[in-house]
Amino acid sequence: MAVFTDEGKTYHVRVGKGDIGRYVLLPGDPFRTDLIASYFDDAKLVAHNREHKTWTGTLNGVPVSVVSTGMGCPSTAICLEELIACGADTFIRVGTAGRVCDRAFDPTLAPVLDAWGFTKDERRVPSAEELKELLSHTGCGKVALEKTADGWTVTLLDGAQLDLGGIAKGYAADLLRAQLEKEGVTSATLDLGGDVFVMGRKTDGSDWRIAVKDPADTESYLGIVSAADKFIVTSGVYERYFEENGVRYHHILDPKTGCPAESGLVSVTVLCENGAWADALSTACFVLGPDGALALRDDLADQGTDFELILVTDDGRVLYTDGLADAFTPNDESGYTYEALA
Ligand code: AMP
Ligand code: MG
Repeated sequence: MAVFTDEGKTYHVRVGKGDIGRYVLLPGDPFRTDLIASYFDDAKLVAHNREHKTWTGTLNGVPVSVVSTGMGCPSTAICLEELIACGADTFIRVGTAGRVCDRAFDPTLAPVLDAWGFTKDERRVPSAEELKELLSHTGCGKVALEKTADGWTVTLLDGAQLDLGGIAKGYAADLLRAQLEKEGVTSATLDLGGDVFVMGRKTDGSDWRIAVKDPADTESYLGIVSAADKFIVTSGVYERYFEENGVRYHHILDPKTGCPAESGLVSVTVLCENGAWADALSTACFVLGPDGALALRDDLADQGTDFELILVTDDGRVLYTDGLADAFTPNDESGYTYEALA
């Protein structure tokens, strides 16, 4: 069993052993195990309909459905330790990717998210002094991740806490995918409340076609993406927000200011072969804005992680990267201006 110790001490993470069901919460737990657990508690896909080959359930209160053209019932054995290691690893990789991506994805924002009430449904606008104080306990320097012979060692310093909300759904999708593969399924779609995975191709051999939501009108869509074996993950301002004195405050924070990111973007869709990465990158690119997101894409491509982007700007433009030139079909009736990036 994992053992939590006091501030600055080490938490030994064993990868691949122990799942959320056997996990024990300890008093003074510095990790956001309660939050993470809420993502996964009911992540088991409950209703299995063999006839229609569908499974439905909820993930963090969001309806989840798996439609498979193969057989077998997926179930999830979530390994909390692995999620933590995965979150910390992503953090470090995004944080060290290069020029502009410093602290775009920051899983240590937990106390700041608390202050805004996003984690407790008691929304409020914190004062500048309060944010400054809270931010002094966040950031790269507060997390150390080290690979050891039998797993990972994650060290949190200075009372830092992790919030893995920016990566949890994508990580869960990775696990579900692995489970489907184990069941011998070769063709399926997974929808985790907007985070989509398309496995293989349709049984007629053609690519899956996924509609990308219009952030201004989620009943409408920006366009259609054709894809196979890809995660398609969106981060947008419309997902979670509140309004006070006519100002809209959303849930993706800029780690530099502790305030909702104002990067000129209202939505970011990432296509990538790994779910946890797709999820982290959609959050990071949202914070970085168009130029930073594209620079991050170049930097990570140099490190062997490729991904494609569909960015929606606050002045009504949809920008999409060159890898989607043939795969993305704009919806000409949406009212947006479309720009294919070279
Ligand atoms: P997503 O909807 O995937 O973009 O994730 C948003 C969630 O990630 C929020 O609800 C927070 O739990 C967390 N979060 C917010 N801002 C950041 C950030 N800059 N870096 C990492 N996680 C964040
Ligand atoms: Mg995300």
